[in-house]
Amino acid sequence: TNQKTIKEGKAEICLKTEKVFYNPVQEFNRDLSIAVLSIFTNDFKVEKLALAEKKAKNKTETSADINEGSGADTTGDITILEALSATGLRSIRYAKEVPNVTKIIANDLSLQAVETIKDNIVHNQVEDLIETSHDDACMLMYKHKHFSKRFAAIDLDPYGCPSVFLDSAVQSVQDGGLLLITATDMAVLAGNAPETCYSKYGAISLKTKCCHEVALRIMLQCIESHANRYSRYIVPLLSISADFYIRVFVKVYSGAIHCKKTTSKLSMAYHCTGCDSITLQPLGGIKPNPTERNPQQTKGYLPAAPPVGEFCVHCNQRHHLGGPLWSAPIHDESFVSRVLTHVEDNPQLFGTAKRIIGVLSMVREELHDVPLYYTVDKLFGRVHLETMPMLIMRSAILNAGYKVSYSHASRMSIKTAAPAQLLWDIVRTW
Ligand code: SAM
Repeated sequence: TNQKTIKEGKAEICLKTEKVFYNPVQEFNRDLSIAVLSIFTNDFKVEKLALAEKKAKNKTETSADINEGSGADTTGDITILEALSATGLRSIRYAKEVPNVTKIIANDLSLQAVETIKDNIVHNQVEDLIETSHDDACMLMYKHKHFSKRFAAIDLDPYGCPSVFLDSAVQSVQDGGLLLITATDMAVLAGNAPETCYSKYGAISLKTKCCHEVALRIMLQCIESHANRYSRYIVPLLSISADFYIRVFVKVYSGAIHCKKTTSKLSMAYHCTGCDSITLQPLGGIKPNPTERNPQQTKGYLPAAPPVGEFCVHCNQRHHLGGPLWSAPIHDESFVSRVLTHVEDNPQLFGTAKRIIGVLSMVREELHDVPLYYTVDKLFGRVHLETMPMLIMRSAILNAGYKVSYSHASRMSIKTAAPAQLLWDIVRTW
């Protein structure tokens, strides 16, 4: 027969039929997810033990109070749901390569996929860790929305757009639990179909050079809006643009009071169709405290700002309105550092270790309080000049007293809080 065997990480997958989806290019996505989950499950276990201790000590508090308050059970179990599993490769790798996991559920709507997953579980001898499920992903997640049944982590890796799975996912993940979400409909997210983007993600995408970071910020905004309906909110750990897809890792917490801060984490984006500059208009905006002028002290939330006009102040062309975008930080710096250290210390565990180290090193250097970026080619292209070498451009910005970094999403990127006026001044001196 034309059976194919595929080895990836510690898993070996047999594929009897072409009808079950397998994409070798996504090895980086799976490796990165394993690295993230390794750090996450460790933290989560520690948090749960602390909670169990508190529960044991505090006899005046009923266990229901603690459970409802935290939304997490204190059994120490860590269950991961792979809601759209296809071959089961990802689940098998999680079972063999992520520490602290007690159970994994590998689900798929396709019967052929579930049969393939079952064969692969036996082949890899992970029967004790993985359960299969043949169900619609949403139905399965809804069955797990009671706090006693929620998952520590849920992986959503659909074809195209994940938004139809978000309502159920944000309800069936534990307090402090992790959502790992892929989107591959980049044409929609990156500005080629702004209307479709609005109908699917609740935000208008923009045709701009920084479209990949815009895509990440639309995705985060979308998850947050789903979570807010249930008095929950997200904390992004890592947000990656790679190849033809984006992948975000966010923690979900419960707390109605925190949901009031959501508007200050979102902005509308005024995009100039002439020079590609983008001005963000926060939806809420924290009131700037006169003693805290340093944006660093606003923890990445943008301060309230006056309305943006119809025309661009730099080139007098019209603005396009996009968003709302997530304008708070898209990564957790210390979490990223720990994932990076883990991969640097154990490169033999990851087929794509080199790439992970490269990408996470860039992510760690990104200016976390500066949403979006310029690109040198667009800046100079606009005025029909030959592009200035990146190094010279960056030192000019540094010399003017502003920080500058790359974005992992583009080789040509310039991330800086410097005013657009300064960049155009630099361009004019070239
Ligand atoms: N996560 C896999 C990996 O890393 O190799 C790939 C998943 S593949 C892109 C998407 C899978 O979702 C397909 O196997 C498809 O059968 C399944 N699927 C599509 N809609 C579904 C639904 N509503 N519920 C459950 N599974 C679904």
